[in-house]
Amino acid sequence: MKRRGSETSTPTQRREFLKRAAGCGTAVTLALPGCATTGGKSSGRVVVIGGGYGGATAAKYIRMWSDGGIDVTLVEPNPAFVSCPMSNLVVGGSRDMAFLTVGYDNLPQRHGVKLVRDTATAVDVDKRTVSLAGGGLLAYDRLILSPGIDFMWDQVAGLDNADAQATILHAWKAGPQTVALRRQLESMPDGGVYALSIPVAPFRCPPGPYERACQVAWYFKRAKPRSKVLILDGNGDVTSKAALFRKAWADEYKGIVEYRANHVLAGVDAATRTAKFDVQDDVRAEVLNVIPPQRAGAIARSAGVVTANGRWCDVDFRTFESVTVKYVHVLGDAIQVAPAMPKSGHMANQHAKVCAAAVVALLSGEPPNPTPVLTNTCYSMVTDKDSIHVCSVHQWDNDKKTVLAVPGSGGLSSAMSELEGTYAFAWARNIWADTLA
Ligand SMILES: Cc1cc2nc3c(=O)[nH]c(=O)nc-3n(C[C@H](O)[C@H](O)[C@H](O)COP(=O)(O)OP(=O)(O)OC[C@H]3O[C@@H](n4cnc5c(N)ncnc54)[C@H](O)[C@@H]3O)c2cc1C
Repeated sequence: MKRRGSETSTPTQRREFLKRAAGCGTAVTLALPGCATTGGKSSGRVVVIGGGYGGATAAKYIRMWSDGGIDVTLVEPNPAFVSCPMSNLVVGGSRDMAFLTVGYDNLPQRHGVKLVRDTATAVDVDKRTVSLAGGGLLAYDRLILSPGIDFMWDQVAGLDNADAQATILHAWKAGPQTVALRRQLESMPDGGVYALSIPVAPFRCPPGPYERACQVAWYFKRAKPRSKVLILDGNGDVTSKAALFRKAWADEYKGIVEYRANHVLAGVDAATRTAKFDVQDDVRAEVLNVIPPQRAGAIARSAGVVTANGRWCDVDFRTFESVTVKYVHVLGDAIQVAPAMPKSGHMANQHAKVCAAAVVALLSGEPPNPTPVLTNTCYSMVTDKDSIHVCSVHQWDNDKKTVLAVPGSGGLSSAMSELEGTYAFAWARNIWADTLA
């Protein structure tokens, strides 16, 4: 039997289809939010700093969409990619670190990305070079920064030293701290309190802290049923999927989870694992987990692209180029987000594709897509198997000069379910493959 279309369409027709799909607002999958222009052959040197959700995706897609014409160097200190999405399951004990870990090998082997295992220490935006901790110097035509977040330790009194940080964990960058937090929970006696401090928004992954509370409660319910999860939220309410999380705490984790709003953390006493607030009483916990306030990763400051409150980087959402420094693009959690745009791995992946398409176009002398579309889906695991989600579609608005949520797009789960849990695991496997396979 003949497969309709596939035998008759030419590469040019297929490219044209992909361009239209991305430009006309129908792209609701992980793929193609921008428009890769491959009509003119692109060439040039791109350096990408950070091999996380934004940077690794950008590196791969620039190589693919330039048909290997653009030289791409990816700088990343870690030997493998470790996913923050799904890492709360490791904290809860239903998955291990191997589940979150994906190697970088395919990027050089299948896509020709030059992988440099190092840390970028400085950017000279006039000479267009990047200095590396190991002594190297990389020249670029376009630089892409996706360094994720740094913590603002000075905002939490008593937490700005290594000893305190070794006891009061964040586990907000998946890795050794994820394992260490799990160990603290395992060592905690039944009847103890796990307190989770959430910073005032914006922060990495709006639903992530509430998902973590569910995962710890899931563990306590099975292994330490007299223990408590105490959420100390700097915000006035749950910042994402509020009704769904509240229902899970009331139904699934009744008597285990307690939520307290408007608890802006002022400081900690690491020795006694005490959280201190300006207004409310101190809270002492057996395990104190503090997610500190955040800002763009340090290399963004070196490049001079931090423009919003000394924390985040304003970009032109059609190219993700910095609004202040030419030839430097910023992706992922480091940017000053558009209205209703979350700091998520899915969104970083979408930033990366819009940026990759724009960089390929710009380096071949063609205009970037004027109206890119981005999508987002955030699943949150409520048990080891059940999940809830929120999703949205965002498009450039030429009048407002920003990206806005498309009216009527998106949605929210009606209830937690195991089917959504299946979708959540599929989402994770898909995005890891999309980024790194
Ligand atoms: C517990 C938790 C759960 C989450 N769950 C979800 C979820 O379910 N869905 C979702 O979409 N998102 C989720 N997120 C959010 C998601 O992890 C982030 O939004 C995403 O990682 C942002 O991508 P990024 O590229 O900006 O940063 P990252 O993925 O953190 O990547 C940054 C990379 O840059 C590297 N780097 C930093 N500085 C330098 C330098 N100077 N030189 C070289 N390399 C450098 C780092 O080593 C790192 O690998 C979750 C986050 C957490 C903490």
